[in-house]
Amino acid sequence: MSRPALRDRLHRAPRKSVLYCQACGHDSPADGDWRVSPVDADPERVVYACPDCGHSITTRPVARPAHV
Ligand SMILES: [Zn+2]
Repeated sequence: MSRPALRDRLHRAPRKSVLYCQACGHDSPADGDWRVSPVDADPERVVYACPDCGHSITTRPVARPAHV
């Protein structure tokens, strides 16, 4: 009668964060179909824009490789 806790953990894998467009309601994971482009004023950040209406959703730090 073993009940591996790992199985339960896998079952409840953390969901990816989902972003929503407040202008048109489009939703997609953070790594989904958003149009990501650099922020001119800040090279360390990128802006996420809605692919449907172009509304800017958020800005985030530029994703860096885990090992440089
Ligand atoms: Zn939108």
